[in-house]
Amino acid sequence: MTGSIVLFGPPGAGKGTQADKIVQLTGKPQVSTGDMLRLALSKETELGLEAKKYMEAGQLVPDNVIIGLIKDRMHESDARNGVLFDGFPRTIPQAEALESITEVSTVISIEVPDEDIVNRIVGRRMDPENGEIYHITFKPPPTEVAHRLVQRKDDNEETVRMRLSSYHEQTKPLGDWYMEKGILHAVEGTGSIEEVARSISKILTFL
Ligand code: ADP
Ligand code: ADP
Repeated sequence: MTGSIVLFGPPGAGKGTQADKIVQLTGKPQVSTGDMLRLALSKETELGLEAKKYMEAGQLVPDNVIIGLIKDRMHESDARNGVLFDGFPRTIPQAEALESITEVSTVISIEVPDEDIVNRIVGRRMDPENGEIYHITFKPPPTEVAHRLVQRKDDNEETVRMRLSSYHEQTKPLGDWYMEKGILHAVEGTGSIEEVARSISKILTFL
């Protein structure tokens, strides 16, 4: 498949969880703006410090910052045949800017209702050694790694509600934008991790 793939959906929909399998299926590298921003933040770069206040408040980082980040990333040689975007684009201006950077051939929208999102986000934990994502109830970690898991600072109930309102106001309209372009494929995101993975594989196989 030529071009890039976009994984679309609300915070906590399961984009990061599903990304690994899509990378294996397509060979395209995962490009997660959330991970890139967190890395910049941990290194205390100018970009990271600028992004911090937005991330902690559950707001979107300004479009120009994100678009600059993506332009730089897409110059790297592994991005030549397209990438798997996870958490980008999140606004119509970001998607418009992306059109002059790479061709988006497929958008996979993982659909999960708001009432499930808060539980998913508040129970999310991450293994800092390999980036593996767990959930205290839905994907419990093996006991040998449990002690080192971390919780993201923005994964608390108050910030999640802010992130959900940013999603509804600024990101959801982008789903309709891609739908009108005829490249959006919706996936029911409330099944098990394996069921969602199977639905995504089917879409990718038929393209
Ligand atoms: P996103 O990248 O869209 O923000 P994640 O992949 O990080 O979402 O998933 C959010 C949380 O929900 C994680 O704790 C993950 O283990 C859990 N999760 C992911 N997919 C499912 C699923 N299908 N059912 C239940 N929990 C899930
Ligand atoms: P989640 O999928 O759980 O919302 P992410 O890791 O994708 O989390 O993003 C974390 C935070 O980083 C967002 O709440 C937002 O502040 C910022 N962010 C990530 N990607 C973008 C983007 N494409 N545009 C604007 N802000 C972004």
